[in-house]
Amino acid sequence: MGSVTYREVEVKSALNTVKGMPFDWSLNPWSGCAHKCVYCFARAYHARYREKNVGSDFDSNVEVRVNIADVLRKELHRRRDGSLAIGTATDPYQPIEGKYQLTRRCLEALVDYPMPTSIVTKGPLVVRDIDVLKKLDEKTDLTVYFSVPCVDEEIVRKTDPGTAPRLRALRMLREAGMDAAVLCMPVLPGISDSEESLDEAARAASEAGATAFRHRPLKIDVEIQQYYYDFLETEFPVVVPRYAALYQGGVHPAKNYERELEERVRRVRARYEFCERPARPARPPEPETVQLQLAI
Ligand code: SF4
Repeated sequence: MGSVTYREVEVKSALNTVKGMPFDWSLNPWSGCAHKCVYCFARAYHARYREKNVGSDFDSNVEVRVNIADVLRKELHRRRDGSLAIGTATDPYQPIEGKYQLTRRCLEALVDYPMPTSIVTKGPLVVRDIDVLKKLDEKTDLTVYFSVPCVDEEIVRKTDPGTAPRLRALRMLREAGMDAAVLCMPVLPGISDSEESLDEAARAASEAGATAFRHRPLKIDVEIQQYYYDFLETEFPVVVPRYAALYQGGVHPAKNYERELEERVRRVRARYEFCERPARPARPPEPETVQLQLAI
């Protein structure tokens, strides 16, 4: 696995407005991702919006947004409507987060100006922040989603070469009383979509205490098609004809494949327990909200 270069940059804004998703804002303390997942949709965004290549520009040159927590704090001070997703275009727990603490400092800003938040990560380093996450969880709705597309180590070494096992981290969050779920995404046709593979992932998620297990099939954005198909030719040449039939040069797999996969995951999910966290008593409003209501 090649080395990663980190470049410090300053940003002017932290929150991005989002349309058509279940959240209103996104936050990405980094740009690029050292976890190097070959199928990563964010590689495509990197090419589309930043005119970078989908390979090393994305996974070996990571931007460190050194002032993001300060900028976020100012933005949150001005507005706090809507909900936030952290880690939509990069993993918030990059290996070097241990040094820079960008995500941790953003979470600290959210504790002071809470808004409903979800975090998606493949980084076990998230457990370092359990103390801050618990504070945020006490003030607002918080879910940490662990992205676990597959638990077969041989496959993961090829598809997600920069990641580390993380279900122990999920268990620790659950033991701390937090909402932590598994996203089995993306499911890779011919690689991680067998009932056996999905069953192993669901069982491991359930044993770790995941509150939910959700899936989604692989989408191959136009920008990453060449990159991903080159990877398949090298590592899984036997599945290439299947992809040609399933995707027919498009972005999404055939509808009947999606339906079969849905059915497979439904069967698998039914074999294991995924307990939603019990509803908590209503939280008292933030002092600032009370002051605002009194002033009206
Ligand atoms: S961890 Fe997420 S953002 Fe990073 S490369 Fe993998 S899929 Fe992309």
